[in-house]
Amino acid sequence: MGQVMGVYGALWGTLGSMGRVMGHTGLYGAGYGGHWALWGGLWALPHISPHVWGRESWFEDNHGAALECVGLAASTGPDAMMQLKVTAMMDANICAAINKRMQEPGAEVTPELIIAAMGGEIAPSLPFLTPQQNQHFGASLRRLDSVAQAAAARGVPLLMDAEQSYLQGALRLLTLALIGRHNRGAEPRVWSTVQAYVRGAEQVLAMEASWARRYGARYGVKLVRGAYLEEERLRAHKLGVPDPLHPTLEATHRSYGSCLELALSLVVQDQARLMVATHNEASVLQAAQRMEELGIPRRAGGVCFAQLYGMCDHVSLALGAAGFAAYKSVPVGPAREALPYLARRAQEHRQGALRGTAPERRLLAKELRRRLLPWR
Ligand SMILES: Cc1cc2nc3c(=O)[nH]c(=O)nc-3n(C[C@H](O)[C@H](O)[C@H](O)COP(=O)(O)OP(=O)(O)OC[C@H]3O[C@@H](n4cnc5c(N)ncnc54)[C@H](O)[C@@H]3O)c2cc1C
Repeated sequence: MGQVMGVYGALWGTLGSMGRVMGHTGLYGAGYGGHWALWGGLWALPHISPHVWGRESWFEDNHGAALECVGLAASTGPDAMMQLKVTAMMDANICAAINKRMQEPGAEVTPELIIAAMGGEIAPSLPFLTPQQNQHFGASLRRLDSVAQAAAARGVPLLMDAEQSYLQGALRLLTLALIGRHNRGAEPRVWSTVQAYVRGAEQVLAMEASWARRYGARYGVKLVRGAYLEEERLRAHKLGVPDPLHPTLEATHRSYGSCLELALSLVVQDQARLMVATHNEASVLQAAQRMEELGIPRRAGGVCFAQLYGMCDHVSLALGAAGFAAYKSVPVGPAREALPYLARRAQEHRQGALRGTAPERRLLAKELRRRLLPWR
């Protein structure tokens, strides 16, 4: 392929202060033009170890690292993006408590309330948290808002990651609050993430988009399948609660397809921007073909694609060569934290839809290029 879309760089260890944050940042190839931009993001460690839990300094360090990542991403060019995990800024236990409360009748936590707390109009205090927890809650809101502000100031869209289902309601609440505060301009500055493996994902997407519209904010969404399958299944089994995820891979694929259709229809109505974040060739082809049918331009049409660093480069390369906006997400941080993260992704990759031998992958790449570049 003549037009290589990206130069991959492992930037681990370049950010000393990212010590306890799994950062990731990716190189984005703009296809034919040969201009490259960096997509940067932060991934907090998925499990907070007991000896750091509750220590404000851990979250403060992560905050510093997130701000550094904004600068790093911005320094690479105008198309940079960045990912952020809420649980790197706020204790997962507080998120879980908020999430639980939100499911109770008459729950008083709404995005509007968080917006007011972030803006300093009301005290960042929730009646069901202890004074110490409320202090942490307030500090976490400041951290989240400050990263969003820094990213907006540097023109780096901030993609808020989706995490476990028992946190996700709270994470959505915080994400919508950031969307309400920062997405009043022409383009979304803060993006949400929707996980298609969750039952009712399509309704979640529709609800978020409609909340943003009502609030007068722009909406951007990263559409993924979901990364916590085994943990979610185990938890549901252990607690004897209903499994929040679709029962089969096929059901998740169908859900991804319908979320994609919905998101693309919102893009056409100028009510959303979409990142198709998947390694699944069928989803990539569905998105590319529907964009064609709906008349959405390949570049600057409000839709981009993303794959993780080192995974499915044949998909990213074919997309870049065909003129689509395609991102690679690359981990940044100390090797001791980046390697376990990559190992988990590699294992997931083997279990996913894209297993196969090298010759099979070469054939898939060829077929993908043939369909995306029919004139070649
Ligand atoms: C750029 C980028 C950003 C991401 N950000 C996030 C994020 O914020 N949050 C997050 O959770 N994940 C995130 N992910 C990971 C993503 O959710 C998937 O885990 C990963 O991409 C694999 O799914 P796939 O669509 O690429 O492909 P596939 O290989 O086609 O699908 C594998 C996925 O299908 C689902 N699945 C597999 N078996 C079953 C089953 N038996 N029943 C039901 N479902 C099943 C699982 O979600 C599994 O990950 C991100 C991925 C990318 C590329």
